[in-house]
Amino acid sequence: MRSLRGNDQSVVRALNRNAILNMLLRNGPLSRVQLKDHSGLSGAAITAVVAELIEDGLVEEQAIGASTGGRPPMMLSVNYSARTAVGFKLMERGLDAVLTNLSGEVHAHIHRDLPETSPETVVRTASSMTTELLRQCGVPSDRLAGVGMGLSGVIDVVAGVCTHSSYLQWRNVPIAALLEQAIGVPVVIDNDVNAFAAAERLFGHGRHALHLAVVSVGRGIGSGLVANGRVYRGASGGAGELGHTVTERRGRLCDCGKLGCLEAYASEPALVSRAQELAADLNILTIQMLLDHAADARIAALLTDAGERVGTALANLVNLFNPELIVIGGEGVRLGELYFGSLRRALRENAFDGLANDLPVLLEPWGDDAWARGAASLAISRTFDMEVN
Ligand SMILES: [Zn+2]
Repeated sequence: MRSLRGNDQSVVRALNRNAILNMLLRNGPLSRVQLKDHSGLSGAAITAVVAELIEDGLVEEQAIGASTGGRPPMMLSVNYSARTAVGFKLMERGLDAVLTNLSGEVHAHIHRDLPETSPETVVRTASSMTTELLRQCGVPSDRLAGVGMGLSGVIDVVAGVCTHSSYLQWRNVPIAALLEQAIGVPVVIDNDVNAFAAAERLFGHGRHALHLAVVSVGRGIGSGLVANGRVYRGASGGAGELGHTVTERRGRLCDCGKLGCLEAYASEPALVSRAQELAADLNILTIQMLLDHAADARIAALLTDAGERVGTALANLVNLFNPELIVIGGEGVRLGELYFGSLRRALRENAFDGLANDLPVLLEPWGDDAWARGAASLAISRTFDMEVN
């Protein structure tokens, strides 16, 4: 066997480091011997990589459990408070931001309204919010591992470019580089639903699921797909546009300019405008007013129809993708049993034989900080070189 050149060795070292960190994240605490058994790496490789991780502060060791005679084994675990991350959710009218530790635990949450969403305004505001979060939490800036930002649109994650966002009216904006220049730490951007899927895979219901679909319902409808443990983005970052799959040939006009998209029937704004058409006498202006009238037969039928449409779209997604778990989150989890009951029925009715029988469909009640926390997890996964992105 030829000997490894310096370059190859550093690649091997990085791969080993990645493998060991991922093992500790998912199954830790573990002893060095257990790491060796699980990974198949040599004892020498384990020793070297673990020493490096301890030096970096990312892994800590402690004696756990009394052993009968002899020294108790030293157990290794990830030190989640070694660094912090900041996550942003960029919306049409504001920025939500959180500061988290490396396990995604939120230490502070702030919001700022945005008068407009030019890249310059977004970068300036995000930069000053980062400073404010660090000050609020008393974290020195050299402990900030990175920043993540989730936004609605098609994102080239590798280049850090927002290729297209109709919400923000952006085309080809190199937002990650602009933020890096202003804040001075690595920045990862992604589609907001993909960011949430990454968070679910890292810290949530998807921790032990290799194939899952995370679906957001609210202002829009979207999905983030995790395949073989990684977020699946497709050729140009556009995978998972569930809201723009067709639910009605030549149907209602969607914000995207096409006709008959699911989002034009079953998102919260679509529900409000359909309610105005169906029941003008009720004068429904908000989703809360709509839910207050859920006893009205016309509104009940509307919620049922919308839920069925999403459930049918999910059946198609299940047939194409065969996930082991579906997690539904977003503001729309408030839509209640009429919507989600019919969603579940339509999913089971329409999925190919057997694929949806034992498929868990979990509703995740989201706090105000959930989207921004998802974005922080992008930075966290980059810190750990985790096998998510
Ligand atoms: Zn559309």
